[in-house]
Amino acid sequence: MQRQVRAVAVQERGYAEIASVGLLLAILVGFALFLYCRAEEQTVPITGRTQRVALSEEDQATLGAEAYRDILAESATEIVRTGPEATLVRRVGERIAEVADDPGFAWEFTLIASPTKNAWCLPGGKVAIYSGILEVAQDEEGLAVVMAHEIAHAIAQHGAERMLQEQLTQVGLLAVSATLGGLDPATRGTVLALFGAGAQLGVLLPFSRDMESEADRIGLIYMARAGYNPEAAIGFWERMAAARDGPEPPEYASTHPSNESRIADIRKWLPEAMEEYRKATETGTTMLPPPAGLLLQPARVPHAAAASASG
Ligand SMILES: [Zn+2]
Repeated sequence: MQRQVRAVAVQERGYAEIASVGLLLAILVGFALFLYCRAEEQTVPITGRTQRVALSEEDQATLGAEAYRDILAESATEIVRTGPEATLVRRVGERIAEVADDPGFAWEFTLIASPTKNAWCLPGGKVAIYSGILEVAQDEEGLAVVMAHEIAHAIAQHGAERMLQEQLTQVGLLAVSATLGGLDPATRGTVLALFGAGAQLGVLLPFSRDMESEADRIGLIYMARAGYNPEAAIGFWERMAAARDGPEPPEYASTHPSNESRIADIRKWLPEAMEEYRKATETGTTMLPPPAGLLLQPARVPHAAAASASG
């Protein structure tokens, strides 16, 4: 008799657990649907790909600007405000942004003294270039390759698209963990954070391989429209590949697709970009000043040698 009662109790607890897991799953599926449906559907310029993003353009601009301010405040002593390199970074950035499919971003282009061969962008047109990448860029057209790529990431709204993907992945992981048992405090924390998702941008989200490819393709068109020869992209990625064989593989290359496939893709897209370049040099864009041909010297940037490589 007693054994029977215990068996019933165990069974009831079992049903209760199944019911709560079912409820949690329903909530999570509902939340994933909510995230997906709330996300705005739009078309990426140049490639015409349809995407969904986690945030409106307005929110992206606000959050991007906040994160940019915070990151720059942390590296305040390394920001290079004057000198030919800083001037060139702004000039190339503004020149490309002017011919890009700009939805009206408040563009900012900042040079940071650091031996790191890297560059990044945040939603809303906030771009940072580390001086270490200048020696790979070598001249204004090489720098245009990097900046057009970053500007392309911003315009294709890869940051906000990545955020939505991360959010949906997290919800999926929670659904899996819910079926495996009760939620531990850390997971519960993640659930709470997710319900506040979109409230913060977090750290720099890594882009996927497809997004990198897309930024390469769009970047080629934008640099060409700005009057920079897109063929410079091949030399730039060959130099980046050579730098990769060195003692310190550059982050810019390691978080991006392999240099061989990237260069092959660039060759495939070049005819389209060269057509844009021909139009740009024949029409209005010739009114822009020609590329300066200045050799970029990261060693001239103050603190460049002393700055930490972890940036
Ligand atoms: Zn990239």
